[in-house]
Amino acid sequence: MTEADPPIFAPGALPSAEMLFDQLTDAVYLIDPNTSNIVWGNRRAWECLGLTREDVLNHSVLSLQKDVHGLPQWSEIATAIRNSQCFRFNGRHRHQQGHEVDVEVHTTHFELDGCAYFLSIARDTTNRVAQEADVHNREKQLWFALNEASDGLWDWDVARGSLFFSPQLKRMLGYGPDEMAPELATWANNVHPLDSPLVMAALEEHMQGKRSRYEAEYRIRNRNGHFIWVHDRGRVCEFSPDGKPARVVGMVQDISDRKKLELLLQEHASNDPLTGLANRREGATYLTAQAELCHRLNMPLGLAFIDIDHFKAVNDIHGHLAGDQVIQQVAQVLKNAIRASDLVCRWGGEEFIVIAPNANLEQMARVAEKMRLAVLQALASHNPPVTVSIGVAANPGKTIDQMKLITDADAALYAAKQKGRNRVELAT
Ligand code: GH3
Ligand code: MG
Ligand code: MG
Repeated sequence: MTEADPPIFAPGALPSAEMLFDQLTDAVYLIDPNTSNIVWGNRRAWECLGLTREDVLNHSVLSLQKDVHGLPQWSEIATAIRNSQCFRFNGRHRHQQGHEVDVEVHTTHFELDGCAYFLSIARDTTNRVAQEADVHNREKQLWFALNEASDGLWDWDVARGSLFFSPQLKRMLGYGPDEMAPELATWANNVHPLDSPLVMAALEEHMQGKRSRYEAEYRIRNRNGHFIWVHDRGRVCEFSPDGKPARVVGMVQDISDRKKLELLLQEHASNDPLTGLANRREGATYLTAQAELCHRLNMPLGLAFIDIDHFKAVNDIHGHLAGDQVIQQVAQVLKNAIRASDLVCRWGGEEFIVIAPNANLEQMARVAEKMRLAVLQALASHNPPVTVSIGVAANPGKTIDQMKLITDADAALYAAKQKGRNRVELAT
């Protein structure tokens, strides 16, 4: 039988102790305490060192262990082994191929026929040592993530109702390390009331398993009482035995700067710089949205097309800058004359459009007349007086066609111009 062959036992016969020891995955050494020589070893004892049985029996434990230097140190260790029931020692074995093997050695002492022996069991802990080093490394990474990374971390123990806030998260909100009570209310009470319903719904949907994770952008009050914008995302990472979320962990990022820029860009993209009114693009978007809404709710939708009369003359007489001021004044007058639910936008040049949800042709005509008179009153003192012509159209809720609304109102405006200007005409 070669060393690699599995032992074969006759049915019913017990294997010898030596065969059993050879099945162990730990190395076993029998040592003479006086000489430190190995007098017996199991199969693992030589295999784990890249040696043969003969080799290992010619070795002293001193030549195996990297951390035991010479007989004086061995005799100290031997004394410690004799004085304890089981002596534990973490060391490194030298492998025949030059590398080291981390081992944890348990040694007991006993006497047999008047001779003292040490029995050592050595377990290869290479993987465990690597894991411990890994954990140590991760602890450092975690420490960095909690303290130095720009994102804040939270950890919600749902069952206990406690909520951990990382030092960086507290710093983000202007709090010191010992402030912010570790409970859900500390967070929930400071979410902006306007954002709160959406944020809570997003969290609830994730907790119920309807969404794979929780994610929300919202405003949260900082220590000074100001609101900062944050991007918050988290996930349930532990469940209780009954399948309910037990622990949720998430990260918070301060996005105030990005949000400010976004709002500014949005404003620039949707506002007309001269008048501050919605621009044509925003007007078209609003018209589409209101057309859909009025159709769904079966409400009429009214539209007025407004054009300043003989505006070329204003430019010609007073110059382009004065013309700009007239456009600004008319814009302001129109804005003040409409309901909050209506929108006035600068459609282009000296033309404006008013979009009025839930206004039929008659109501729209009244709004238009109100606007015409308001302009007349506000700018009557101009020389020449500034007036506007207005074309009005409306669609009933069931048949809203936004393109037709615009062309009908434009045609009515053309009619108002034809009939002498400074008047309101209704689409036919
Ligand atoms: P009508 O009564 O037929 O509308 O006569 P109008 O002179 O107003 O004629 P039209 O609408 O064709 O001319 C508009 C003029 O408005 C032409 C253009 O030079 C001027 N205009 C367009 N945009 C601006 C602007 O932003 N500022 C100034 N000052 N003038 C503008
Ligand atoms: Mg015009
Ligand atoms: Mg004009």
